[in-house]
Amino acid sequence: TKKVTFPIKKALDEINEIIGKQVFYSNINMKFNYINGEDLVVYGYENEFKQVLLNLINNAKTKILENLLKENTKGNIIINISKSKEYNKIEIIDDGGKIDEKIISSIFEPYFTTKKDGTGIGLYMAKVIVEDKMQGKIKVKNIDNKVVFTIKVPFKKD
Ligand code: ADP
Ligand code: MG
Repeated sequence: TKKVTFPIKKALDEINEIIGKQVFYSNINMKFNYINGEDLVVYGYENEFKQVLLNLINNAKTKILENLLKENTKGNIIINISKSKEYNKIEIIDDGGKIDEKIISSIFEPYFTTKKDGTGIGLYMAKVIVEDKMQGKIKVKNIDNKVVFTIKVPFKKD
């Protein structure tokens, strides 16, 4: 398949169609913030890009649900969409509990999982798609009590 230019809003709306209701009925608040407006485009593979974001949102949702059971709190998933000189930046931020600093550098490795029935494939595939296939970057950080995944993807052919 060939890379194409697609509107980021369309991809995120489709993601919301797929997962928005599940998130809502899980008592999780999910919000898309278009910091530089809604008309950004991505140059790359639309389906793979959606798969990456779905995976990240699903990871956040699963973890929030586990912690909800323990603490009976309401979780939040925030998706910030912005643009810099060379990249679009998508941040996926959840407040369902930090990633242990002892494992944070391992989570993109294939088969790394902390879940009983996890595969450890999601973040590995996310890295392959974003970095190897789409020439972008994917990173993770704990910031205060939140987990922040940052994806940078190009908006034009280089
Ligand atoms: P899986 O979901 O099958 O475990 P992933 O590759 O999607 O595989 O994730 C690998 C591991 O990274 C997870 O098992 C979990 O420990 C950690 N992880 C991923 N996303 C988050 C998140 N939002 N918050 C905390 N830990 C996370
Ligand atoms: Mg996963």
